[in-house]
Amino acid sequence: MQLDLGSDPRTDVLRRLQAALIQRFGRIIRPPDKRRSPEWVLVHGVIGAQTKTAASNASTDGLLEEFGNWDAVAEVPVDKLESRLQRQTFPSVAAQRLSDCLNAIVEERGSVDLRHLSNLPTEEAIAWLETLPGVARKNSAGVMNASTLNRKAMVIDGHHRRIMQRMGIVPAKADTAKTYNALMPIVPNEWSAEDMDEHHLLLKKLGQTFCRPRKAECEGCPARADCQTGTQSSPAR
Ligand code: SF4
Repeated sequence: MQLDLGSDPRTDVLRRLQAALIQRFGRIIRPPDKRRSPEWVLVHGVIGAQTKTAASNASTDGLLEEFGNWDAVAEVPVDKLESRLQRQTFPSVAAQRLSDCLNAIVEERGSVDLRHLSNLPTEEAIAWLETLPGVARKNSAGVMNASTLNRKAMVIDGHHRRIMQRMGIVPAKADTAKTYNALMPIVPNEWSAEDMDEHHLLLKKLGQTFCRPRKAECEGCPARADCQTGTQSSPAR
């Protein structure tokens, strides 16, 4: 549930953070023609563990190009899927998860078709997605936010979670679902689904540059003024 505007100081931190990141990195807006179908985003997430986005993009596009539609992919034997998922870091795991997930959708919906999600409230749709094999919060939120559904749902990857933890916005040991649950009520009310997508993409950029997994380069980091770790390491400029 959204809190009243201004009722949590972390909401203003998120506003300042967004402005500082845009000032440093520029706008990172996903063009409307880069929004893929919910089914494409789901598949991309299910096969994407520990794999670079570009490789998962190519694998997902490759499956669709070869087999024509997701119902046909659901019928492909797992060993054949595995041979088509060699770009993925764990091809056999990706193939099994994909087969299980697509077939669970066919069993429940009759075909690999997620149009019913557009009729559900976002949190209900996320809960439904997470009943599918291999689907956790990062992927379910991605289906709702980064696809043509374009809903207000925060997509949280490892970069995003680590930065929120180091900044002290979410608890240090929060997993993805806990991070999501902590962030959603404090997202500024005025942010659109596109703003939330851009926020995630900007944090990914921050995580690849200043706030890297093994070493935080707090000196010069655009988030430092509002960061618990950055301000404790030495005085912020
Ligand atoms: S100030 Fe340091 S810990 Fe905080 S977000 Fe920036 S790099 Fe990460």
